[in-house]
Amino acid sequence: MSATERAASVPPRVTRAQKAAAENTASVLVEALPYIRRFWGKIVVVKYGGNALHKSDGADEVDPLASFAQDVVLMRAVGMLPVVVHGGGPQIGELMSRLGKETEFRNGLRVTDADTLDIARMVLVGKVNRDIVSAINVHGPLAVGMSGEDANLITAAQAHVDLGFVGNVSLVDPTMLQRLVAEGLIPVVATIGADESGQAYNINADTVAGALAEELKAEKLIFLTDIEGLRVVADDPSTVVHQASLELIDEIIRSGGIQGGMMPKVEACARAVRAGVTRAHILDGRVPHALLLELFTDSGVGTMVLP
Ligand code: ADP
Ligand code: MG
Repeated sequence: MSATERAASVPPRVTRAQKAAAENTASVLVEALPYIRRFWGKIVVVKYGGNALHKSDGADEVDPLASFAQDVVLMRAVGMLPVVVHGGGPQIGELMSRLGKETEFRNGLRVTDADTLDIARMVLVGKVNRDIVSAINVHGPLAVGMSGEDANLITAAQAHVDLGFVGNVSLVDPTMLQRLVAEGLIPVVATIGADESGQAYNINADTVAGALAEELKAEKLIFLTDIEGLRVVADDPSTVVHQASLELIDEIIRSGGIQGGMMPKVEACARAVRAGVTRAHILDGRVPHALLLELFTDSGVGTMVLP
């Protein structure tokens, strides 16, 4: 045996630290096993918030979009059927101001005239949707982007005359989503809907995520946002609830503790759970791999809504 052959046959020395790390990895995988089995073949609707999407400026930080994409691909790889719905409020606001157009808000809702609708549709369908699809498809030919207008996924109706082209969901036709999911693909949905005449409307992405979870009879509905979870009192971080029954949710809504962008999430969680979605979650999308932590470990993160 030559010296090189002998060297090759000697097993590499494993340091204690490496051994501990390997054991840790193994135990993480073992911990994930029951969750992987439980969620195999189940639809999970994930709403990715426009705020969570905002790229952090720190050069050495993890790119939140890339980390989100990894999580979604991993979910798919272990047999879950993720459906992504995204927002984009801050991104719409950015282009509006770049174009020198004033945004008017009424009760926290963007007043949407014809120009604003055009801008919202361009940003959501043409930019945010594309960014998410590309980030996922770095890992393989998986994501297919669509707008609620595609294959009549979302039929919309005007929410209120004062708000212009802001819509409510009046009907969901999940056929195309079911086909894509059955093909092993990951649909990524921009929340523009159209009415019967073809008029487009911008629809709140939380509301759409809830409606899709309901229609698809999803196992889970998950909101990734920019706060650690649902608080009983909006501006008091010590009041975060980790588990909320529908009763508790009703109580918090009645107490007036939920404001602005949290309201449509909580309403969507409550509606979806009432309609048979097993669990709904509000998670901190700023935490790297929040989705994996919630789905595959014993330590839940954020708020879980259950019947
Ligand atoms: P997204 O882009 O994820 O939809 P939003 O800004 O629309 O984000 O909604 C999340 C925000 O809701 C939080 O950052 C927080 O400021 C606000 N909020 C209002 N009431 C509550 C509450 N009770 N608990 C937690 N957050 C709340
Ligand atoms: Mg919002």
